[in-house]
Amino acid sequence: MRLRNKPWAKEAIAKYPHIVIPNPKECRGKWNEVFGNKNPIHIEVGTGKGRFVTGMGKQHQDINYIGIEKYTSVLLTAMERVVESECTNVKLLNEDVVELLEFFDEGEIERVYINFTDPWPKNRHEKRRLTYKGFLCQYETVMKSGGEVHLKTDNQGLFEYSIESFSSYGMKVQNVSLHLHKSNFEGNVMTEYEQKFSEKGMPIYRCEAVFR
Ligand code: SAM
Repeated sequence: MRLRNKPWAKEAIAKYPHIVIPNPKECRGKWNEVFGNKNPIHIEVGTGKGRFVTGMGKQHQDINYIGIEKYTSVLLTAMERVVESECTNVKLLNEDVVELLEFFDEGEIERVYINFTDPWPKNRHEKRRLTYKGFLCQYETVMKSGGEVHLKTDNQGLFEYSIESFSSYGMKVQNVSLHLHKSNFEGNVMTEYEQKFSEKGMPIYRCEAVFR
């Protein structure tokens, strides 16, 4: 992603602490209190500019969504989207996913979305891929049993790698699509990247992986 530094972003997001949670470590184990209900919690790792998480929030008001994005300048756009949407079931964390276990208690989450994550194609960067077994272990810890990881990507190499990674971790891979927009999948919410790639006619790969 081409990053435009916005020096004012930190100050701007600090004005919306009910949307961009400033102290997520203190919310660990208490997210139901933060949302003010006991609805299931789904997270998106690497949320980018928030089109997906906001769209899902609008479409499924009985689910609580948390988008995690490490770059403040990018997260600012996501925050503006959430403000505009007036969705109270969408929160954002300006944090790195490597710290996931600090933010969520065991079994607090029901689903993880990974959309158009950086592929890190070099072998020596494998550990940075958000579908690497180290991350799967973290997702499993914070998820209820039977929790699901939903992946979308334009990158065939990352898709193949992820399916292998899910399978060797012992997860069940299901609902695989090699061309999402030509499939009969209903209720798809496009991300920024998805919009860009699909406009160029590129296939979008999608699958779900379930912890057993
Ligand atoms: N999901 C969005 C979409 O589909 O349009 C954005 C995709 S973009 C390629 C990947 C995003 O993930 C970037 O904004 C990047 O900063 C974020 N990201 C990558 N690794 C991350 C990490 N470890 N923690 C938090 N955010 C991360």
